[in-house]
Amino acid sequence: MKIIDDLNSWNSFKKTVKKGSIIGLVPTMGALHDGHAALIKKAQKECSHVVTSIFINPTQFDNSIDFQNYPSNSEKDIQFLKGLGVTLLFKPSEKLMYPYEIKASNYDLNGLDKKLEGALRPGHFQGVATVVDRLFELLEPDRAYFGLKDFQQVEVVKKVASMRKNPLKIVSCRVVREDSGLAKSSRNFRLSAKQKKAAASIFQALKFAEKEIKIFPIPPIALEREMKSIINSSGFLKVEQIEFVFADNLDLIKSQDYPLDHYQRDVQCFVSAFAGDVRLIDNYRIS
Ligand code: AMP
Repeated sequence: MKIIDDLNSWNSFKKTVKKGSIIGLVPTMGALHDGHAALIKKAQKECSHVVTSIFINPTQFDNSIDFQNYPSNSEKDIQFLKGLGVTLLFKPSEKLMYPYEIKASNYDLNGLDKKLEGALRPGHFQGVATVVDRLFELLEPDRAYFGLKDFQQVEVVKKVASMRKNPLKIVSCRVVREDSGLAKSSRNFRLSAKQKKAAASIFQALKFAEKEIKIFPIPPIALEREMKSIINSSGFLKVEQIEFVFADNLDLIKSQDYPLDHYQRDVQCFVSAFAGDVRLIDNYRIS
């Protein structure tokens, strides 16, 4: 596996690439797991060359302690990638990603950065937009792969890609879960065994919501209350927020009393919860 940390090496690699080849990029922040592996495998199937990047992006953290505590294990990641047959790893320095100042740019994301996760984590999506745009600029991939675990991020990245002079294709991949239903995440590495077991309640609550909507006309206020109770009663988790949105535009469903199944539109539910100081997120199409 070639580990590339400067642009000259990347450009030398690019010179060897045959015309008409498809270069796929899988951006990650490391602490790799099977969720990342699924993205890489899909990219390997669809592209002539796949480059995986590892960069813990400081500008997408709204909380410096969260940034400092973000799990990192370079050696393990390298072995993981080798096991997947990855041939190119891009591991840029902060200086290469942010040559002037470690600061997010300001993108017009049509208000997408202000909703849901964006409202809870101000500046987060501007940081995401900045880092993916820089990766696209440096590596010029034809495609980039992102997981629906970060549903809203996929929309943000699509917007960033569409604003580029040479737009690239953004491919989204389904959420990879533990057998318990817990969405795989680098942050899970920081959970104790008890917290991890309890964290499965997030997916249980989402599945409950899906079932509930099918059997009777439940409004957001009641569904949220029941979902909160499932998660909070796991003993080790505290719900931060549960939101119901229209899946096609991520607009919040404002009425608290109108049954969710009456809209005749796809409804996506977003959950965030804390296990100690570890923030977990998940989302699911409930109707
Ligand atoms: P991260 O390293 O957490 O920034 O994630 C890198 C990419 O992997 C993002 O596109 C995530 O959405 C994706 N990803 C992380 N966890 C999962 C998962 N459980 N299933 C699918 N994709 C995931």
